Amino acid sequence: MSAFVLQIQDLDESGKDWSFAVGREWLASALADSELRPGPEDGELQVHAQRNGADVLVQGHISGKLAASCARCLGEVPLDLDLALTALFSPEHTRPDEDEEIEVRLDEVNRDYYGGREIVLDSMIREYLLLEAPMKPLCSESCEGIAVPEHVRPPDEVFGESAPDARFAPLLKLKEQLTKNEE
Ligand SMILES: [Zn+2]
Repeated sequence: MSAFVLQIQDLDESGKDWSFAVGREWLASALADSELRPGPEDGELQVHAQRNGADVLVQGHISGKLAASCARCLGEVPLDLDLALTALFSPEHTRPDEDEEIEVRLDEVNRDYYGGREIVLDSMIREYLLLEAPMKPLCSESCEGIAVPEHVRPPDEVFGESAPDARFAPLLKLKEQLTKNEE
């Protein structure tokens, strides 16, 4: 069932505001085929829609939290959601034929269509959320990943401190500082 539906029969040019909770259940099903998961609490969606002839301009803002898995250690990576969305909805009967549609999409990415007296935002919001997925989420920039078992580690000569490679000098320095901070 659609969660984000705008009833637009009374909509005029000055427009109307809506506010929705973006429930974790909805997020879980919308994100099911992605690397993203719902965060610890529900998100929020604010929408303003206004009529412009037969078209309806929808502007919205989503806030909340999602989670992903660290690309190195698989630990949880919290993601803050803070997304602005804009789309122009036109009546379904104005939707171009399939061959035409490709052209239209090139210059008007956020165009969608509505049928009857309501605009359903679910699929658009899902697309926006999926675009937010980082290519390589990290729990921290310095995440060292899952510890490599000793028997598969390279011998000390390769990374050992006895013969530090000049290219690793900045890293070694950083490591020194980190070790100091821990003390
Ligand atoms: Zn990590």
